Amino acid sequence: MVERVCLLGATGSIGTSSLEVLRHNKERYRLVSACALHNYRKLFAIIDEFNLEAAALYDEAAAAQLRALVTAAGLKCEVLCGEAGVCALAGATHDFTIAAIVGAAGLKPALAALQSGARVGLANKEALVMSGELFFATAKACNATVLPIDSEHSAIFQCLTEDCQRTLGHCALKAAGVHKILLTGSGGPFRTRPLEELANVKAQEALQHPTWSMGPKITIDSATMMNKGLEFIEARFLFNAAPDDIQIVIHPQSVVHSMVSYRDGAVLAQLGLPDMKTPIARALAYPERITSGVEPLDFTKLAELNFFNPDFARYPCLKLAIEASKAGQGECVILNAVNECAVQAFLTGRIGYLQIAQVCAHELSRGVPAGFRAQHLEDILALDAAARRQARAYLQELA
Ligand code: NAD
Ligand code: MG
Repeated sequence: MVERVCLLGATGSIGTSSLEVLRHNKERYRLVSACALHNYRKLFAIIDEFNLEAAALYDEAAAAQLRALVTAAGLKCEVLCGEAGVCALAGATHDFTIAAIVGAAGLKPALAALQSGARVGLANKEALVMSGELFFATAKACNATVLPIDSEHSAIFQCLTEDCQRTLGHCALKAAGVHKILLTGSGGPFRTRPLEELANVKAQEALQHPTWSMGPKITIDSATMMNKGLEFIEARFLFNAAPDDIQIVIHPQSVVHSMVSYRDGAVLAQLGLPDMKTPIARALAYPERITSGVEPLDFTKLAELNFFNPDFARYPCLKLAIEASKAGQGECVILNAVNECAVQAFLTGRIGYLQIAQVCAHELSRGVPAGFRAQHLEDILALDAAARRQARAYLQELA
């Protein structure tokens, strides 16, 4: 049977890698719908190539442009627009949905995909960071399956027992004999840069990731290691892990994608070239394996593999994220929202690199309003909006 696939965030880095995996497996998967923010030309090319049934653009003016192109080409593809259109597309019936929108914008569409009961491959870590408990409660209530696409979480998933793989969100790590999850990260482009030079690094340098090619937001998050902090929170929710169950390890080569250390001394690792097509293929085909288009790893070409402890003085964002995770869901919502604003401000040259952490710390110190309910989407969205408002005001003061 050919599976019907929906791709959320089709024009981005993960979206593009997903299309490549789908091209290798046309007899097995048919891409039927896709959405993006505003790049109508790129989405039109996808509609044309895959003969999509439906597409959505968040931006309404861009959606009108897309509709005109679809009509002119004589294609039969329904074009939706706005947040409602993106969520309607995500909530339609599919066998598999790839959630690859960047940031908080992906939360509602990801929840809509879960509500449809689909298997959901999750790249959009921010959605889970904002809503962990609600996310898995929704998956459970709607009989949806969550499969990680973030490479580290895919690696951990692959190193866990089948029992854990089948019970994501509430798996029993101790019963499975897990001693620790070893979450690896490259350390980004400034791993060895003298600390006193960090104040002056520019967005252009921060966008040069040493091992992975990704969208701009996650690339900056990788430089500050906020990305690893968000992944720490993501791992806690996915694997039902306590803070002490997870150790963060810097591994500059990005060949080991993460590991699980067991009680008996055995450590299982997942290795491969740093290419997101592998975790995308793993999620799509689980429990089977399909061709992804990624070359096998040639061990004779690996010079060395190094591992270090992270230094919180170099990566204050990592520390903030771990603390937010320990504090609770509200703090994770604030951290995520403020970080998105701060990264945007850094990318547009309005603040310096070190101010990303400073802005996050400043806004977190305001605390979570009393009565915040972690399992309620309206509370999460209201807190996200309030945190953004306050962060923007503070960013104005700084500028
Ligand atoms: P990207 O910026 O390259 O792409 C983001 C996609 O989301 C684009 O298609 C964009 O059009 C779409 N989008 C943004 N806002 C939208 C909205 N409001 N409605 C509909 N679509 C919208 O980002 P990316 O690097 O592909 O990352 C996507 C997600 O995957 C992020 O959450 C990131 O953390 C995660 N992730 C990425 C990688 C990677 O290698 N790129 C690895 C692990 C996890
Ligand atoms: Mg990752």
